[in-house]
Amino acid sequence: MSTIFTKIINKEIPAEILFENENVLAFRDINPQAPIHFLVIPKKEISTLNDLEETDKDIVGELFIVAKNLAKEEGIADSGYRTVFNCNEDGAQTVYHIHLHVLGGRQLNWPPG
Ligand code: 5GP
Repeated sequence: MSTIFTKIINKEIPAEILFENENVLAFRDINPQAPIHFLVIPKKEISTLNDLEETDKDIVGELFIVAKNLAKEEGIADSGYRTVFNCNEDGAQTVYHIHLHVLGGRQLNWPPG
């Protein structure tokens, strides 16, 4: 089932886009939890990490390559950052289109709570 992220991919609703190619879109989170907080998503609709297939290996790798490139562009590569996929209810997933959170620009806490 499509989510609000499909509308962002299709430019039906606005987002501050940081990167786009044929497979991947990255944009700032609308409700940032750190000074830098953006999401890297596949254009392919994949609901949760549980729905990943063998053939999605390349796309998942690409999400991380885009994440680390943007972390550098955003100036948080050296200070550090966190990458997170939330999965299902206990993982606090709210949008059922997988997305890699990238958070940085402040000291993050661990454990995450
Ligand atoms: P989840 O809780 O599913 O891991 O994260 C979903 C994230 O998407 C949240 O951090 C939320 O702020 C962000 N988000 C939800 N709707 C929108 C939207 O319409 N635009 C943008 N840019 N971010 C959104």
